[in-house]
Order: sequence, then C-alpha cells, then structure tokens
Amino acid sequence: MQNNKPRLYGETIGIIGGGQLGRMMATMARHMGYRLIVLDPTPNCPAAQIADQQIVASYDDLDAVKQLAERSDVVTYEFENVDLSAARYLELEGLLPQGAHSLEITQDREKEKQAMVKSNQPVAPFSIVSNEVDLKTATETIGFPAVVKTCRGGYDGKGQIKLATHADLHHAKSLLAESDRLIYEAWVDFDCEISVVFTRAKNGQIIFFPIGENIHRDHILHTTIVPARVEPIVIERAKQAAVAIAETIDVVGTFAIELFVKNTDIYINELAPRPHNSGHYTIEACNVSQFEQHIRAICGLPLLPVHFHGAAVMVNLLGDNLNDYFTDVNRLNQGHVHMYGKDEIKLKRKVGHVTFVGQELDQLLDQLKTESLI
Ligand code: AMP
Repeated sequence: MQNNKPRLYGETIGIIGGGQLGRMMATMARHMGYRLIVLDPTPNCPAAQIADQQIVASYDDLDAVKQLAERSDVVTYEFENVDLSAARYLELEGLLPQGAHSLEITQDREKEKQAMVKSNQPVAPFSIVSNEVDLKTATETIGFPAVVKTCRGGYDGKGQIKLATHADLHHAKSLLAESDRLIYEAWVDFDCEISVVFTRAKNGQIIFFPIGENIHRDHILHTTIVPARVEPIVIERAKQAAVAIAETIDVVGTFAIELFVKNTDIYINELAPRPHNSGHYTIEACNVSQFEQHIRAICGLPLLPVHFHGAAVMVNLLGDNLNDYFTDVNRLNQGHVHMYGKDEIKLKRKVGHVTFVGQELDQLLDQLKTESLI
C-alpha cells in the first residue's frame, strides 16, 4: 500500500544508486530540506558526498535494502537496474511511489518494446531472437542494416552491435552466446534523435520539459541542444507518445523517452524511468529542474509549471574530453559547470557536464561556435 501523505522537509529520502543522477537529486532534495540516505557499493560515491548517510552494500543485498527502508520515509532510485525483489519489497512497504512495474518494463528491452506497441506508438521493426533459427528468420524478415541489442543490462552502446550486412552476423552470434535474448531491430536512418523528459504526479498529471535534440558520439550522449530543431508536428507526436506510454506503465516521477526522427515521423527507441542526462539543462535553463520536479512527484508535492529561458546547450564531460576543457579553464567557465565528484576518471565515462544558456538558439549556437565552445 502506498502512503499518500506528502513527504515534507525534515523527512528522509532513500536513494538506490549513488552516481551523478543520485547526486543531482540529492542536491535538490537537500535544498528542499530533506534528509538523504544513499545505498551504493562504492564508499563516498558521488551522491554520498551530498547525503547524510550511506549504506555501503550492493544493490541486490536485501538486508541492506531493508535497512534503507527502515531509515527512509520514501525511496527512489537513480537507475533502472534496481533489483526487482528489492523494488517489490519497498513497494509493499508503501515506500516506493514509482512502484516496481516501470522498473520491470524498462529493465528488459523486450518488455519495453511491448509497452511501446501496447501504447500504439511507432517503433522500428523488431524481432526477439533467442537462438540461431530466430536470428536467421530476423535477417529474412527485417534484413540489413540492423542492430542487435541484448534485452538486459546494456547501456551507453554496450551490449549492442550494428549489422551492416550478412557478413556481420557472426557478431550477433557471439552476442547471443553471451545473453539469452536479443532484440534484432531495423536500423533507422534518422535525421536526428530527440528526447522527451517529463514528470508525472501520482494523480496522473504530466508536466513536460522542452524537448531536446541529442547528439551522440560512440553511442554516448555528447551534446543536448534545446529546443530540438524539428517541426512542431514532431513535438506534438513525441508528447502524445509520452502521454500514451506514461499511462500504459503508470509512471510516477521524472521519466525520459528517447526517439528517432525521420522527416516528420518518430520512432520510439528507449525509455528511462528516472531523470535523464538529456534533461540536465533544466537545472539552469528552467525555473524548475527535472530533479526538483522528480522529488516533488515522489514526495506528493504539487508539480510546478515549467518556464524555459529560451535556449540551452549541454555538453557532457567524459574522461576523454575533460582535459580539452581543463587546459582552458576560461572556456569551461563560460558555462555552468557540474563535476560529479568521481574518484576515478575513466575514458568514455561521464565525469561532469557544462550547460550554456541563452535566450535564442541560433544566437547561442553561433556564439558557442565562434568561441570554439562546442
Ligand atoms: P540505445 O542503447 O538503444 O539507446 O542505443 C544507443 C544509440 O545507438 C542510439 O542513441 C542511436 O544513436 C543508436 N541506435 C540504436 N538503435 C538504433 C536503430 N535502430 N537505428 C539507428 N540507430 C540506432
């Protein structure tokens, strides 16, 4: 049974996962006067540096999850790979307003695709592959180019391989040998990628943030440009898709939907049941951030209407490009800098981001290009 009483300042929010998303949630929750406890196996992880307490344990340690439940008035998570039995336990205890259902769906690409289809939303043609016979059938029905993705556990391009022609099929076979199910998906020759970040309250109210355009490098988000440079009909379609999917899986909290855009058609690619990297710009470019709105939703406070300054560009800092920025600190400081407090700086891992805010997108992009900031 969920407890419908609003959680107010002074009460404790438990967060499963202590990375950068947990850290930004915790920072906002702290501003709002909540106490925080983080469950994460890495001592002094990014979110623990902001929280009051950390339980150092693995995410599937049920004793640790019970401790978290005992010490929290409400619990949320920063990633979708939360242990499902832990999530169900927290839901039964009335502590997890987001419920276990949206986790169950977003942890598995097959269930995720089924939810998109059930919501009558467009997706690239796909097929589930459990063995080499299924794989052969998929090559015949869907063809090439295609991409194969593991149904569970992939992120930032891990667990997926593009297949240009038959000659690449051995890659799919090796991926299949490592995982029980794959999705075989038609390659979409998209014009651009966008994401819809929104927050849904327990009563079903949805508030959108402006839709951003995402540029990936090596499958990792590199830049988000807001507003997305797409036709108004695309924005309308993307929002309608978000409403349909949010209702199908009964979303609570901040949620993100990633889509491909080809002409004025959309194809839903992926769902994230949590604040999203492409929504970081909301911290400085909107009156309310995706993190504050998330805390409001899970604590049962009213969502705020969103007002946007007009233009934003967010650039991720990875282990790779961090040095480029740091050799010229002035360059970095033209924008709002966020560093995540990670102990180790690894190649291709996000260590921070910078957001540049303006009032008009063309002008902001021109300025950033002239100053070699993007
Ligand atoms: P995903 O892990 O599904 O978000 O995929 C990571 C990135 O790979 C996406 O943001 C796209 O840039 C690319 N990608 C994934 N699936 C497809 C597809 N079916 N067609 C074209 N590009 C894709």
